[in-house]
Amino acid sequence: NQSKAKEYIDSVYNQLKNKYGYQTEFLQAVEEVFSTLVPVFEQHPEYIEQNILSRIVEPDRIITFRVTWQDDQNRVHVNRGYRVQFNNVVGPYKGGLRFHPTVNESIMKFLAFEQIFKNALTGLPIGGAKGGSDFDPKGKSDAEIMRFCQAFMTELYRHIGPDVDVPAGDIGVGAREIGYLWGQYKRIKAMHEAGVLTGKQPGYGGSLVRKEATGYGLIYFVEEMLKDANDTLSGKTVVVSGSGNVAIYAIEKAQHLGAKVVACSDSNGYVYDPDGIDLNVVKEIKEVKGERIKKYVEYRPNATYTEGCTGIWTIPCDIALPCATQNEIDGESAKILIANGVKVVAEGANMPSTPEAINEYLANGVLFGPAKAANAGGVATSALEMAQNSSRTYWSFEKVDEKLRDIMRNIYRTSKECAEKYGAPGNLMVGANVAGFVKVADGMIAEGVY
Ligand code: GLU
Repeated sequence: NQSKAKEYIDSVYNQLKNKYGYQTEFLQAVEEVFSTLVPVFEQHPEYIEQNILSRIVEPDRIITFRVTWQDDQNRVHVNRGYRVQFNNVVGPYKGGLRFHPTVNESIMKFLAFEQIFKNALTGLPIGGAKGGSDFDPKGKSDAEIMRFCQAFMTELYRHIGPDVDVPAGDIGVGAREIGYLWGQYKRIKAMHEAGVLTGKQPGYGGSLVRKEATGYGLIYFVEEMLKDANDTLSGKTVVVSGSGNVAIYAIEKAQHLGAKVVACSDSNGYVYDPDGIDLNVVKEIKEVKGERIKKYVEYRPNATYTEGCTGIWTIPCDIALPCATQNEIDGESAKILIANGVKVVAEGANMPSTPEAINEYLANGVLFGPAKAANAGGVATSALEMAQNSSRTYWSFEKVDEKLRDIMRNIYRTSKECAEKYGAPGNLMVGANVAGFVKVADGMIAEGVY
């Protein structure tokens, strides 16, 4: 049985590699999931009979389109837009939009693929999707951002809907962009379908806690990991990469719970503050002024700024929280973190650790909180926003925050139990992948072959 399962998984992977060898990020995400599946396929021969793996790695559809927009000098520009609708067995397609120059089909597919299992793991009725554009928001005026968002939605609107596909934010897409996208959708459709997008402004269809949810959820998850090791966040030294929405609210919650966060970063470099990061300064720089993190040292004389992205992982810490982007911790950085005594690595970004880095964590007894579990609080709160929109009501901050906390506890427990059930006790990566996978695979079988 074991060799049959392994043979099947390897053969599907090799076919995929022959077909999409150039889509390296997508293959990396698939390989991580596949590496955890042998015991699952041993116990579920029906997954082989139904050829579930070949079906699950091909998106339901990939929509790609031209986005034409005008800058402030009336020059006309063209970008590529994407929406990968990967799997809607558990619920309507759901996942963020990323605006970043690195966006391509491989990145979109890896993110949408991960979203399937992450969303299933939340226990809420949401399928997996992702979208975005290679548009670079850096240095663009507010009016340019607005025109780009309107142009993007002028094509995307025909492919989405509250019961079809519900986009939200990701890198480069926050409440401002969601507002412009939502306004355009509403005007084109001439209907107030608030549940078509999540991450809207509170008071204009948005949910309280959505902005904070990925970061807070990450820390709630870390709390659970530590609790199982009879430990807490209090007094821990924490390094957080990034300084966007995920990083800021991870820092905020970690500080609430008594941790000392000593560093954060952007794509140019990182700041180290031995006295602990002053979050008001970070919010002023990033949320109010939209400037680079380098500015931090002008407000805090004891802090230092260093160019480059990987140096941040040389800072000794108890807990490392990668909250910037994919593959930001490689094997070398993982080795340095471990040599400096890191106890926990939990992923706020999607796929921030390379396979080599993950191997280092697992081989050295680091508690590892994989992205699909640890950062699921954002999309889970998006599902809570959809629920509020459907019932035409708003919940209080406390109510949403409590639900988020419960969801993160459940995700932790589900991942832990599933890891035990499939012979990898303590390995939350196995647990998260397998729990999400089994739910989706069972749903696919129940719905019949298509
Ligand atoms: N972009 C976020 C993620 O990676 C959130 C997606 C959503 O809220 O739909 O999960």
